[in-house]
Order: sequence, then structure tokens, then C-alpha cells
Amino acid sequence: MDLKIVLLGPPGCGKGTQAERLVAEKGFVKISTGDLLREAVRLGTPLGVQAKGFMEAGKLVPDELVIGLMKEKLAAIKGPVLLDGFPRSLEQARQLEALTKVDLAIDIEVNEDNLVKRVTLRRSCKGCGAVYHLEFNPPKTAGKCDKCGGELYQRTDDTEATVRERLKTYKEKTLPLTKYYQDKKILRSVDGEGEISVVFDRIVKVLEKK
Ligand code: AMP
Repeated sequence: MDLKIVLLGPPGCGKGTQAERLVAEKGFVKISTGDLLREAVRLGTPLGVQAKGFMEAGKLVPDELVIGLMKEKLAAIKGPVLLDGFPRSLEQARQLEALTKVDLAIDIEVNEDNLVKRVTLRRSCKGCGAVYHLEFNPPKTAGKCDKCGGELYQRTDDTEATVRERLKTYKEKTLPLTKYYQDKKILRSVDGEGEISVVFDRIVKVLEKK
């Protein structure tokens, strides 16, 4: 069965990192709205121009823009799909449901005190989007991606002030989704504390039960 999975959790919970491994090891195709929006900003497309200010302020990009993007991508994919960073509001969840059936929503839980540290020490690859952490998951060569040799950089929204704003946005807009999926009986919570591979194994266990 071609599963459609939503990854939920606050900024810094490890969604992107776990999504990368699920793609590499479990054959999922990932759609990350954050990655798509950053690419649009980098290229200066009309979507990017509209999204930039919201992203830099730690706010959500308006639903209609993100939903349009998601529709286009979902239509092009066959096979198991992993949605990383979408939906992020109840409106997005409802619109997604109208497009396709979601099989599982996996909520990655991390203690709030650890989130800011995780995000501010995060570095991302300009080339392939791979994610590192200077302390917990450092690259083999400083400043260079292990996978593609690309240059590592700090996202402009990974500063402490913006992370705090993103957490506020998360609590207000995205946290209600856990109840939404719980009511549909497809929510599974996973402890996101500990090593990347340990968290990955917990996610795989959840998938195996499906
Ligand atoms: P992420 O890479 O998932 O942390 O997303 C980075 C930023 O992109 C967020 O702080 C939002 O400004 C924007 N963004 C990503 N996904 C969405 C979404 N589903 N809805 C609205 N804004 C989004």
C-alpha cells in the first residue's frame, strides 16, 4: 500500500532529518514545504517574493499559497509519500483531506528547552538540503556537506529570536493538528529525544504497525 504520512512536531524536533532517512532507507518520496519555499525565495519566483517576509518573521506563509504548491507536487508523485512541514494549520489539514487520504500522522515530541539549542546549532546544505547539527550530527569536514560536498549555511530563520517566534506560531496554529489527527485515530506520538538513529527506529516501529 502506498502510505501517505504527515510528520508533525515543533521546529527543531528533527522532522527534516528523520524525513531524509525515511526517504533514503524506506523509499518514501518527501515533500517539504519549507524546502520548496526556500527554493522559491532563492530563485526569486513570485511565490518566493510573497513568502520571504513571512518566513523571516517566523510566521506561516498564507494557506492559499502553500496549498497551491502542495496540490501541484502531490499530483506529480506516485508511491509512498512523506509530508514534512505540511499541514501546519487546520485549514491546510482540511484541504489536504480533500485532496488525498492521510494514513498516519507522526508527531515527534521534544522538550521545549532543547528546541532552541537544536535549531540555532543547525546547519543546512546549500546543494542538497541535508541537515546537520554542530554538536549532535556534525559534518565530517567543517562547513561541507558529507553527501554532496555542498556548502553548509545557517538558515536566516534559525536565529534564536526567530525560533522563539516560530515556536509561538507552532503552538497557536500547528499544535491543534495533533487533536485533529487524534480524533481521526491516525495520530502516533514518537519520543524525539535521543540519538537520531534511536528516534528513527521508534518511527520505523510505528510504520511497521501500520
Ligand atoms: P520549515 O523548513 O518546515 O521549518 O519551514 C520554514 C518556514 O517556511 C516556516 O517557518 C514557514 O514560514 C514556512 N512554511 C513551511 N511550511 C509551511 C506551511 N505548511 N504553511 C505555511 N508556512 C510554511
